[in-house]
Amino acid sequence: MPGLLDHYPGMTLGGHKQRPESRGYVKALSTNIDIGPLIQPNYLAAQSDQTAMVAVVKMARRVLQARPFAPYYVDEIFPGNDICTDQEILDFARERGGTVYHHNGTARMGPDNDPYAVVDARLRVRGIEGLRVADASIMPAPISGATNASVIMIGEKAADMILQDAAQPLRRGAEHPANESGTTAGWEMTACSRAV
Ligand SMILES: Cc1cc2nc3c(=O)[nH]c(=O)nc-3n(C[C@H](O)[C@H](O)[C@H](O)COP(=O)(O)OP(=O)(O)OC[C@H]3O[C@@H](n4cnc5c(N)ncnc54)[C@H](O)[C@@H]3O)c2cc1C
Repeated sequence: MPGLLDHYPGMTLGGHKQRPESRGYVKALSTNIDIGPLIQPNYLAAQSDQTAMVAVVKMARRVLQARPFAPYYVDEIFPGNDICTDQEILDFARERGGTVYHHNGTARMGPDNDPYAVVDARLRVRGIEGLRVADASIMPAPISGATNASVIMIGEKAADMILQDAAQPLRRGAEHPANESGTTAGWEMTACSRAV
């Protein structure tokens, strides 16, 4: 039962692939905000992720069966010695594997020619004026590590960019007051400027 400790001593070794190549999606099902989206992570869809996961389980076994662990290691309880072949290991990973809670990239940042880039380099949502996204979803690709520090950095950077853009002279009706370089080249200028 979840949340209960086992009645015997043991140790756990878990592993995951830092930069998975499987790609899922989040799909809005309704314009009604009370209806949640469809979230399809597509875990272990990519062959490279499958190969890595099988290798991870094999490596974990090698580590725990290495000589330094001998005084502490009696037997493997989970997934157990009857899980042997690559296919059995992969099936086990699919059935019992879990997430490490570092979801990201569902509204990724990218250049104009990327049809899947939701936000530009200043985190502005393409096609919607006055809206930015500043969280883990804008990561263009999974990072090698836990996500919290990077998300804090994204928030800090977004705050700086919002203040920078607010300080730029505005063209009446312009969608974006400044381009990525912080200049207004190509934009029609007016005398007004907005206070920060
Ligand atoms: C169990 C767990 C353990 C983790 N452990 C670690 C760790 O050890 N180290 C690490 O680096 N990272 C860890 N992470 C990952 C890290 O916490 C996340 O990557 C990070 O918090 C993501 O930040 P975010 O701003 O993108 O989203 P969130 O932190 O999820 O913030 C989203 C915010 O939006 C709010 N919100 C949602 N919907 C609405 C709405 N409709 N209107 C208004 N507000 C809304 C939510 O209430 C929430 O405050 C862990 C995550 C989990 C779940």
